[in-house]
Amino acid sequence: MKKKLIIGNWKLNPATLGEAKRLAAKIDPKPRHTAVLCPPALFLSQVEYPRLGAQDCFWMSKGPYTGQVSPLQLKDLKIKYCLVGHSEKRLTGEDDGQVNEKIKALIAYGITPVLCVGYGTTVEQDDFAVIDILRHQLGMGLAEVEPAKVVVAYEPVWAISSGNPYATKKVATPEHAETIAIFIKTKFNVDKVIYGGSTNAQNTKGFLEQNNIDGVLPGGASLLPDEFNEMINIKL
Ligand code: PEP
Repeated sequence: MKKKLIIGNWKLNPATLGEAKRLAAKIDPKPRHTAVLCPPALFLSQVEYPRLGAQDCFWMSKGPYTGQVSPLQLKDLKIKYCLVGHSEKRLTGEDDGQVNEKIKALIAYGITPVLCVGYGTTVEQDDFAVIDILRHQLGMGLAEVEPAKVVVAYEPVWAISSGNPYATKKVATPEHAETIAIFIKTKFNVDKVIYGGSTNAQNTKGFLEQNNIDGVLPGGASLLPDEFNEMINIKL
């Protein structure tokens, strides 16, 4: 069985360090697939789990950059993955040039960037229109980057929920996600493509069964230990 990559994005949850530690302690540390937890940056040094990821980072390693988290600091904490270009960051003004700087900095420190693309897509668009948007985001995001060192997360923004009620939004079909994954792999030489957008224990199997989808990136479902444990142990 091919092991898939399942990255839980906790976003701005939970509210306290105690809750974060308790949540991580409930997640299976030796699941069938490769599981990564991405708690808020403030909790990264205290939460215990075999594989931790960050939700974002800055491109400079140190200096006069108030409020930033650097890839050097992430490396010091032995963080293995870092999300970059999540739609919730792009919404606050992050652009493709900044995404590219972050990716280059992370690779320089041996951290795997998880480049999120799909911001700006709509539920009405066909595969060609989606591909047009992604071509731009991938072209800029991966400029001067060795694509094999990056995981790409295809996350149609309309499918991403805003918090816990993850089941309320529509989800892309596994077949659509597979088409997009094939495009990303063949045109950009990327090895790993994962899908994100309201995935849960019910719909994840359909994505993981696709040949070119190497994992999923759940947000809301990663805050529910039973749900997430089911996802990281799905039999394929
Ligand atoms: C995400 O955080 O990238 C995400 C896809 O969230 P959700 O699963 O809640 O839609």
